[in-house]
Amino acid sequence: MELSKKNIIDILKSSDTSIFQEADAVRKKFVGDGVHLRGLIEFSNICRCECLYCGLQSSNKDVKRYRLSKSEILDITQKGVDEGFKTIVLQSGEDIFFDTKLMCDIIEGIKQLNVALTLSIGEKSFEEYKAYKDAGADRYLLRIETTDENLYKQMHPYGSLANRKRCLKDLKRLGYETGTGCLVGLPNQSLESLANDILFFEELNADMIGIGPFIPHPNTPLKNDQAGNLALALKVMALTRIILKDINIPATTAMETLSPNGRMLALQSGANVVMPNLTDDFHKKMYEIYPNKLSGSRKDLEKLINSINRYIVVDNCGSRN
Ligand code: SAM
Repeated sequence: MELSKKNIIDILKSSDTSIFQEADAVRKKFVGDGVHLRGLIEFSNICRCECLYCGLQSSNKDVKRYRLSKSEILDITQKGVDEGFKTIVLQSGEDIFFDTKLMCDIIEGIKQLNVALTLSIGEKSFEEYKAYKDAGADRYLLRIETTDENLYKQMHPYGSLANRKRCLKDLKRLGYETGTGCLVGLPNQSLESLANDILFFEELNADMIGIGPFIPHPNTPLKNDQAGNLALALKVMALTRIILKDINIPATTAMETLSPNGRMLALQSGANVVMPNLTDDFHKKMYEIYPNKLSGSRKDLEKLINSINRYIVVDNCGSRN
């Protein structure tokens, strides 16, 4: 469907919810009823960045920091493989302890377990992204967070939107299946800026899009700001499905954290991926990007997916290519 920026803004403004059914129909037509599972491993909460919204920002001294060793990461991956996961997502703060050599070593170890591998470890140079790709990484997730230049600068005092965009272009050029996405409900974020985010996803020709409502963390400068609105986040996601059609879209944990049926609503409004957390409970608690981050069991997830007449797909692709 051809949608102009004005159309998108009008839909975001409107109280009409038919967009959710439309997105569900587009999802069914282009990617089917299968729900792809990605096993998430949060292997370090150490971060050099200062993203204002994030509980892991380096100036938050109340976080107990951890990093997992290569063998711990491989053990969790093996456990995931034993449970039937065929895709692993390695996520961390921007922890420079994991230099290119160590990352490539970990990537090679994981690839020996015969799974698809997604990385979500932040902004790197072209050479680093290339080394990870050569070591076997298949996909990369890097949310643009917001395409609004002013808002980006406010939220990332030491970062630059231009570099974030450069990273995404490099990832595409290197042949990664590239995922991006945005936060919905950041302070001072306008509907126009959300419309621009959606148009940016289209321009990038992204393969995956993760939309997360903003949730304030008590140890950040945004602690007194309002959380994002779930319905608005779902609308941004639904519009993304309608415009980009055959991409992968996760029902994000932040949606489920905001509302007990957030994940189900997302799966019925365009989403076709879920990312259960494989990290052990001890470390999972410390990866607190926002409070009360949820992670249901695989059994509960299966029940939920079956209850809406969908099924879990156990392959390692679900890719656009
Ligand atoms: N360091 C990597 C990066 O920058 O892409 C990956 C880790 S980062 C913690 C993963 C995602 O968490 C970010 O892309 C951001 O959108 C999300 N996030 C951080 N703080 C959040 C908050 N308060 N509410 C909702 N999502 C948040």
